[in-house]
Amino acid sequence: MTTRSAAPRGSAIPLDLLIAGEWVTTPDSFPVVNPASGATIAAPTSGGVEHALRALSAAHAAQESWANWPPRARADLMHRAHRLLLDREELIVETMTLESGKPLSESRGEFALSAAFFLWFAEQVAHLRGSYAEGSNGGYRVIVGHRPVGPSYLVTPWNFPLLMSARKAGAALGAGCTVVMKTARDTPLTQALFAQVLHDAGFPAGVVNLIHTRETSEVSGAIMADARLRKVSFTGSTEVGALLLSQAAPGVVNSAMELGGDGPFIVLEDADVDLAVREAILCKFRNAGQACVAANRIILHREIAEEFTQKFVAAAAALNVGDGFDPGSEVGPLISARQRNRVVALLERFTQVGGRVLLGGAPVAGDGFFFEPTIVEFHEERHKFSNEELFAPVAALYTVDSAAAALRLANDTPYGLAAYLFTSNISRAITLGERLEFGMVGLNRGIMADPAAPFGGTKTSGLGREAGQGGIYEFLEPHYMALNIDTEGALA
Ligand code: NAD
Repeated sequence: MTTRSAAPRGSAIPLDLLIAGEWVTTPDSFPVVNPASGATIAAPTSGGVEHALRALSAAHAAQESWANWPPRARADLMHRAHRLLLDREELIVETMTLESGKPLSESRGEFALSAAFFLWFAEQVAHLRGSYAEGSNGGYRVIVGHRPVGPSYLVTPWNFPLLMSARKAGAALGAGCTVVMKTARDTPLTQALFAQVLHDAGFPAGVVNLIHTRETSEVSGAIMADARLRKVSFTGSTEVGALLLSQAAPGVVNSAMELGGDGPFIVLEDADVDLAVREAILCKFRNAGQACVAANRIILHREIAEEFTQKFVAAAAALNVGDGFDPGSEVGPLISARQRNRVVALLERFTQVGGRVLLGGAPVAGDGFFFEPTIVEFHEERHKFSNEELFAPVAALYTVDSAAAALRLANDTPYGLAAYLFTSNISRAITLGERLEFGMVGLNRGIMADPAAPFGGTKTSGLGREAGQGGIYEFLEPHYMALNIDTEGALA
């Protein structure tokens, strides 16, 4: 296995904070590690509470002017940023692989999707809707438009650093909100390159601000407690999301939460098993399983369980684990040693409750934080760890005897992000699909993210939706004006 430890064209990556249109440094920094080698690749500037509040002040100061840009002018600027983003694909893709470990092909896929999301919002800006109606009792008119919510705090995780940033920033900026983006500690470089694209495209000073920090709770707490903040949009764990919601409560800050998942992947006895296996491999092992929408529980109808399991194990065993820069790499490392240790402990718990390891089960020896593609089969429908978010290249297989049992098991979770259903029967697809208590259901598909679709979950998986037809409205508030008119006088 070969590894790369130096940053690609390293000097081109900004390492500082972006505040009020200036790149700002501090004496403090933190290391960013290449998870494929364990080597430090960069040491971005770490901001403190003072920098975070300066960034929020800049966002607050720029808010009124940015909100009043004509929609077409905002759209044009976003289109310019989109073109600049495309020009910088190579550097961004390589940087993403370097700091997150994902194979280059996956970084390229994430890049394309991120650009598509940003473009989607650029296209929506000039098409915002309003309405005009007669008041219920006549005599006045109901004029409804939308106003930007206001300065927004965007907090993103490390697993899809560009996609999460582009989706949130696209919606916020398009809606006319100014932003403070807080990067994830493990992947700040990709997000810095994205902020640089926005800066270079010409967003006015203060509209886009970027903070890296190693003092996450202090910095974030200070922003959340400041009355100038009007919106928090978070993607990450349910635990941190709940903390942010509690911090949002006193100031009644508008909150959008994309949180954890426990995705069931159901394969019924009438499914195309080969298709289900192909999609399960993508859904489970993409990003080394570190995806909120990954298949967390693979639920098989007993009639096809053996065939699926045998084909799935063979396909997973053929996956090429390696440094994301190796052309054949299909599964990269976990993000950190901490995550790898967590997965080792998870496997111990799984075997304690009766899980049978059919493939893998151990870290890969050598440098980096690689873990073998792993498949564990359970003979019980449930066990006490079955709702734990795996976030690893570990597939857990469960067997049931009927479609009704599959549905019951699938819904038996506090989460409600993504579910998958494989069947060749349209009535079953619709009936079960409608009853799956998840924000998104893949019917004979293992990958669903699309700018045209509302992304998000129910229950403890979150609040609100990103993208789709209504996506930009997450950063807008309806604004109603009642206008008195004198109809008789007008005709006099
Ligand atoms: P995390 O919650 O630990 O971190 C996410 C972000 O929150 C990071 O920027 C982190 O620095 C920040 N953070 C951590 N502690 C904080 C605090 N006290 N105050 C404010 N911010 C804080 O999650 P993670 O490990 O980076 O990502 C994995 C989790 O994200 C998984 O649960 C996964 O399901 C979820 N996720 C959800 C989606 C979705 O769209 N629903 C997408 C990707 C990841």
